[in-house]
Amino acid sequence: MKYTFGPINSRRFGLSLGIDLSPLGKSCNFDCLYCELKAAKPIDKIENPPQIENIIAEVKNVILNKPNIEVITITSNGEPTLYENLNELVDELNLIKKDKKLLILSNASTITDSKIQEVLKKIDIVKLSLDCVSQKCFEKIDRPLKGIKITDIVDGIKTFAKDFKRDLIIEILVVKGVNDKDSEMEKLNTVLQEINPSRIDLGTIDRPPAFDVLPISSESLKGLSENFKGLPISIIHKDKPKNRVTFSKDEILETIKRRPQSQSDVDYLFSDISKKYLEQLLNSKKVTKNIIAGVVFYSETKRILSK
Ligand code: SF4
Repeated sequence: MKYTFGPINSRRFGLSLGIDLSPLGKSCNFDCLYCELKAAKPIDKIENPPQIENIIAEVKNVILNKPNIEVITITSNGEPTLYENLNELVDELNLIKKDKKLLILSNASTITDSKIQEVLKKIDIVKLSLDCVSQKCFEKIDRPLKGIKITDIVDGIKTFAKDFKRDLIIEILVVKGVNDKDSEMEKLNTVLQEINPSRIDLGTIDRPPAFDVLPISSESLKGLSENFKGLPISIIHKDKPKNRVTFSKDEILETIKRRPQSQSDVDYLFSDISKKYLEQLLNSKKVTKNIIAGVVFYSETKRILSK
């Protein structure tokens, strides 16, 4: 397979077939500290982009042979929205995807362009990265092409979010000593309250990064997540829990009231007896289970009904 990879079982999105729009090498307008690809000078276009008809032929063939694929993911060795024929590609994929969802993983740099916003509106799940909202921190962690301003990106996301009726996921990747301060997360929280995304994925470095930087612990991620009041945060836990905790039913309700808990939070932190209490709260309809772009969340029923 030249243009597709997988399917891979993604905890965040389900069984996913990836499409790589930059199969010949990294083409990105960022050069993030945590990138899994080798560091490279940021550029503003994909070099030697693949032809749409070749991509579509391959996707058609894979989904015919693997009908249980849940998501078709537009990604690249770099930034997929730099692909010059993205609009046509999305239209073609929508014609052949059947019951599968279309997902794009973008660094959000081009959301400033209204034409890109229109293309993204045709995609079922849009994942945009937003690691911090101050220019200094943004330049340090994402190392963007000169001239890219985080305030423009934030404004673009806000405009896009107002009209976008499908699933908008914001991904925050935390690097030790760079964007791991509560002060940075508080600024992000202010912006995210306005954007009101469907889900926020909060994670840290998982695979060998391009630069010599370190992840933070799951406990620190959990601590940082407390800055995001009432928003559905999915913490991407990488390490095993040291101790699972037994919560009473009231404590579970209080925790869920402050922040909906994802299945991954529950698996990471809840003891077996806490899981039983959670089940009872679900049965008594005090807690509601819902799925946001493939991730299970537990929320307070009152909160959902008042939305
Ligand atoms: S946006 Fe993605 S591909 Fe580009 S440098 Fe950052 S992590 Fe790598």
